Amino acid sequence: MRRTDGTGPAGWMRELQDLVFPPQLYCHSCGAVIDGTRTYGLCDDCITKFSWAAGSVCAKCGKPLPETALHSTCYDCRTTQHAFDRGYTCASYGLYERMLISEFKERSKDHIGHAIAEVMADRIAGESLSPDILTAVPAGRWKTAKRGYDQTEIVAQSLARRIGIRYLELLVRTKHTRTMRQLGAGERRANVQGAFSILKGRDSIIDGKKILLIDDVYTTGSTLDACAAVLKEAGAARVDVLTFAAGADVHPAFEEAAE
Ligand SMILES: [Zn+2]
Ligand SMILES: [Zn+2]
Repeated sequence: MRRTDGTGPAGWMRELQDLVFPPQLYCHSCGAVIDGTRTYGLCDDCITKFSWAAGSVCAKCGKPLPETALHSTCYDCRTTQHAFDRGYTCASYGLYERMLISEFKERSKDHIGHAIAEVMADRIAGESLSPDILTAVPAGRWKTAKRGYDQTEIVAQSLARRIGIRYLELLVRTKHTRTMRQLGAGERRANVQGAFSILKGRDSIIDGKKILLIDDVYTTGSTLDACAAVLKEAGAARVDVLTFAAGADVHPAFEEAAE
């Protein structure tokens, strides 16, 4: 049985654990006691604190734009050529979104990954997206080794089940990249240059396909661009990207690093 299909021993053991200690009784973000009917497993207080991407968004990368925006695209998309076709995101990457992502990533809380997938499925429900394959930005091997598994993959698999699209691992990280947090936009691009390649034997599957690429946070889009470029080179007809949260549209000099 393939570990990546979510039904491997690690997967069902975690699901069993969730049954014994039902995580839906606690708010995913603040830990407050809630009942199982709350949307996305968030308490009433937290759900209002999230900056959902409900207003105008960048026509290219999908990041939320300020109310006063004069352009249909963000500053970054007006100055950068992206390798992906279109981006979609669910929220602005603020304090509460950051807390949820770090609870999920640092503490390996899988049920948060399923809630994130639910948010993502709702986000793209009204969009005219018809991907053939869903895939995820692969975590570095050292990260996977440290945590035992790749968390973005959990979100991608859960989302794939919800929207009825096939999930496939397509990419592999071929270079150890530096943590992006302290890097500017240019450095981020250089850092991920040549960092990804197609997983052995997957080229023929990618040819002519529309691919939806998943990641947790969109900052400058450099990682997603690097992945999209490799997929396009392998013949992908279209590569759209979907993230849980995106940094605000600000001038790169003042950009808050998020990755
Ligand atoms: Zn809460
Ligand atoms: Zn943009």
